Amino acid sequence: MQVSFWGVRGSIPTSGFDTIRYGGHTSCVCIEAEGHPPLVFDLGTGARALGRYLVQKDVEKVYVLLSHTHMDHLYALPYFAPVFQPNCRVHLGLPAESAEAARSRVGQYLNGVFHPLRLDDIGSRLAFHGVPAGEEFSVGGYQVATLRMVHPGGTLGYRVQLGGRSVCYLTDTGPLAKPDEGLMANKAPTAMELDLIALVQGVDIMVMDAMFDEDEYLDKQKWGHGFPEYTVAIAAAAKVSTVVFFHHSPDSTDDMLDALSQKWSAHQSPRVVVAKEGSVMDLEG
Ligand SMILES: [Zn+2]
Ligand SMILES: [Zn+2]
Repeated sequence: MQVSFWGVRGSIPTSGFDTIRYGGHTSCVCIEAEGHPPLVFDLGTGARALGRYLVQKDVEKVYVLLSHTHMDHLYALPYFAPVFQPNCRVHLGLPAESAEAARSRVGQYLNGVFHPLRLDDIGSRLAFHGVPAGEEFSVGGYQVATLRMVHPGGTLGYRVQLGGRSVCYLTDTGPLAKPDEGLMANKAPTAMELDLIALVQGVDIMVMDAMFDEDEYLDKQKWGHGFPEYTVAIAAAAKVSTVVFFHHSPDSTDDMLDALSQKWSAHQSPRVVVAKEGSVMDLEG
C-alpha cells in the first residue's frame, strides 16, 4: 500500500518562490495498492496532476472520497482526467444524505456560472454516492469508516483499512473539544475525542489538519482547523505510528515548514512528518 501526496495546502493554491519545496496545490491524497483501484481523498488542485498520472496508468476505476465540498477540496473535479476517459468509471463519494443530494451539491459548482462546464456535461461519467457519517462500508476492497469532524458546514474524517495496513485522512477539522476540556486541557478525552481516538486507533499513517499554531487556533476557534500539538496528542492517545501534518496555511513558507519539521524531528510515538507535495509513503503489505 502506498500513500502519495499531490496537494497539501489549505484554503487556496499558493504557487510562489517561497512554497516550491512543500508545494502550493490544495488537498489531494491517493492510496494505491496492488490489485485494487486507486482511492483518492479530495480533489483540490493537486488532483489535476494525479488525474494525468492515473490515465497514464490506464486505470479503469477510481474511488474518490471528499472530506467536504469547500472549493479547495473540489476545484479540480473538472480537471481530473479520469472523468473524461470513456473506459474509466469514477465513483465520487461525499458527505450527503443520498446520491441525488451529492450530485446536486456538486451541481452548484458545475452550473455554467462558476465554471464553464455543467455537471450534465460530465455527470454521466460519474457515479455519485452520499457518504454517511459514523458508518462503515467497503469500496474496491478497502474497508472504510467515517466520522463527523469539526468544521463550518461539517466534514468527514476517514479511516481506510486494507489487510493489516490502515490510513486515516482527517482534514479541515478543529479540535473536538473546547480549549478548557479534554486533551487540550490535559484532562480525560471528551466523548467526541474518544470517538476520534477509536477511529484512528493503531493506524499506520494519520494525515491530519495542523494548519494553525496554537495561538492562531485560539484566535480562530470557529474556523475549523487544528494545530500540531493537538494532532500529536490525538495520535499519541490512539497509538498511531506516524502522523502527517496537513492542510498547510497559505501563509506558511517553505522555511516556516522546515522549522516546523525540525521542531518535531526527534518526536517518537508518533513519528511526525510535515506533508510535502510529491512525496510518497510506502506501507509494506
Ligand atoms: Zn480546506
Ligand atoms: Zn473547509
